[in-house]
Amino acid sequence: VPLLSRMEGGGNVRVVVRVRAFLKRELDRQARCLIQMDPITQLTTLRAPDQDTVDSPIPKSRKVIEDKKFTFDSSFWSHNIKDPHYAHQEDVYNSLGEEFLDHNFEGYHTCIFAYGQTGSGKSYTMMGTPDQPGLIPRTCEDLFERIDAAHNENSNIAYNVRVSYFEVYNEHVRDLLVPVNPNAPPHYLKIRESPTEGPYVKDLTEVPVRSINEILRYMKNGDQSRTTASTKMNDTSSRSHAVFTIMLKQIHHDMETDETTERSSRIRLVDLAGSERAKSTEATGARLREGSNINKSLTTLGRVIAALADPKALRSGKRKDIVPYRDSILTWLLKDSLGGNSKTAMIACIAPSDYDETLSTLRYADQAK
Ligand code: ADP
Repeated sequence: VPLLSRMEGGGNVRVVVRVRAFLKRELDRQARCLIQMDPITQLTTLRAPDQDTVDSPIPKSRKVIEDKKFTFDSSFWSHNIKDPHYAHQEDVYNSLGEEFLDHNFEGYHTCIFAYGQTGSGKSYTMMGTPDQPGLIPRTCEDLFERIDAAHNENSNIAYNVRVSYFEVYNEHVRDLLVPVNPNAPPHYLKIRESPTEGPYVKDLTEVPVRSINEILRYMKNGDQSRTTASTKMNDTSSRSHAVFTIMLKQIHHDMETDETTERSSRIRLVDLAGSERAKSTEATGARLREGSNINKSLTTLGRVIAALADPKALRSGKRKDIVPYRDSILTWLLKDSLGGNSKTAMIACIAPSDYDETLSTLRYADQAK
């Protein structure tokens, strides 16, 4: 199987970091930017905040606060648009999305996660805005451009594209392509395991799509149906993991032998729930349980990716035993897209002036390297 040879050495996990610009509320309080990125070395520095400023209050118990340094595969500086190194949406796509789509056409499954606290730029990076489309619409656009180009060349490959969109909320799975009935209790789907395909969501809607506009329409409907609940941090903060999947099937017809071969790959684009810890939002009761389930999926995901990224684990051949896929619904369902015949990327999204949350995000991303 030639595909497997490329995975040797554990090079199938990419970890990148992106810092966003100040929001109005941060400008209003004259927040200080605590992040420095070196575009050459990819070194990201989180500077210690002044003890006496209003930037992310520091617990009194903590005595020494130091600058923290991390190196990731790429660091996207999206803080100051006037800076020559500013990373636009297009730059993020060119550096990551395009290569991942190449892998999909080669037959790999891929998975791109956006991780970070609420308000750190996850949706902006994945979905973006109509003016500044993010990774998902750019991937869809590029996908159909490549398919159209192949059609125009009269290639003997036929393409079949389908999408699904679900969310994992409180360790339950909900179909986002089914409109919500506000008068009925939420409808959760069951998870099954097939001997050949592995874990899957039973009865999940999968729709065939023929154009980018069709995909975007489905996404928009799905986003409207996505569970959001207000927390003390934001008016609406996303508490669920949203998994958008594009299934690409390439059907190759060999004219000479009249044989048909199929190659299928899955493109997973995941906007994770906010990583802020339950305690910092003063959550209680149901909200606290929700918080700990979010943490469970996020912690397990971190452990799974760390296990996959560790070349020692890969070499020992014991990967199946030590990768804890089963410990959360999210990792269990994404098993096919994590490890094995797949490529994974984690985009750690950070706010520019929040020491504690940013440190926890950078540490999370660091263990995934
Ligand atoms: P999250 O999905 O992590 O909760 P959002 O993507 O909604 O965060 O981002 C929070 C706010 O910051 C939004 O208003 C978004 O438009 C803005 N934002 C995020 N990243 C950027 C960026 N790179 N450039 C400009 N604005 C950004």
